[in-house]
Amino acid sequence: MGLLVSREEKKEDTIIKVGNATIGDGSLCIIAGPCTIENPDQLNEVAEGLAKTSVNILRGGAYKPRTSSYSFQGMGKEGLDLLSRAKELTGLPTVSEIVDIADLSLFDDVDILQVGAKNMQNYALLKELGRQDKPVLLKRGWANTIDEFLESAEYIYREGNHNIILCERGIRTFETSTRNSFDINAIPLLKERSHLPVIGDPSHGTGVARLVLPVSLAIVAAGADGLMIEVHNNPECALCDGFQSITLEEFKLLENRTRTYEKIRNFNFPSL
Ligand code: PEP
Ligand code: MN
Repeated sequence: MGLLVSREEKKEDTIIKVGNATIGDGSLCIIAGPCTIENPDQLNEVAEGLAKTSVNILRGGAYKPRTSSYSFQGMGKEGLDLLSRAKELTGLPTVSEIVDIADLSLFDDVDILQVGAKNMQNYALLKELGRQDKPVLLKRGWANTIDEFLESAEYIYREGNHNIILCERGIRTFETSTRNSFDINAIPLLKERSHLPVIGDPSHGTGVARLVLPVSLAIVAAGADGLMIEVHNNPECALCDGFQSITLEEFKLLENRTRTYEKIRNFNFPSL
């Protein structure tokens, strides 16, 4: 039997609406914000700056599954409270990563629940999120195949939650010049194989701030439904992922260029 998330089971694209944002309708949904919420000033400065752009959804991590147990683990509930205030201030819907289903009630005001790459195969978490009525943004594990990625989405889908966004965020290869290798193939392949919306995260996909713009353009050209970009008011002082975070100024250029690519890609060229 084919997977429920596959194109064979459902021909039409799944379209997800959160607040004023739509994902999967052919437009480009831009998600941006800091890797981690650090303090009120940091989040407000980034959120207010982004609210003046065409950004669609605000991101911000409050629970960070860091490789080192000694690294900053996120502000937890306090961070989610700040995200709520930023949402109120800007009117933007929000997305934040959940690592433990026991924290679910703290996410009441978060619009999209993110499952991080490290948890792509946390099947207990996926099944629980499948029973919620809130969209899930599922990131691909860096050592997982596209088949395994779709099988993980199926865990959520078959429990009843059909609002799943697939996020390619780079895979681990032999290359050491970048944090990950962005798997551009995954974008058209996932669009072909699944009816779920597909977005790309060039921040984790490269791990290099100056590569975020060119790789974003490639993601849009490849047909993605959205982008997820890490933005910081002062990347040099960021508590997490500063090296791959772009400034608000750089984001404005990225927004401008990717929106142009969106128009070109969606333009119906008359056949010659
Ligand atoms: C993130 O989005 O900040 C994150 C931790 O990403 P990933 O799970 O892809 O590493
Ligand atoms: Mn990050």
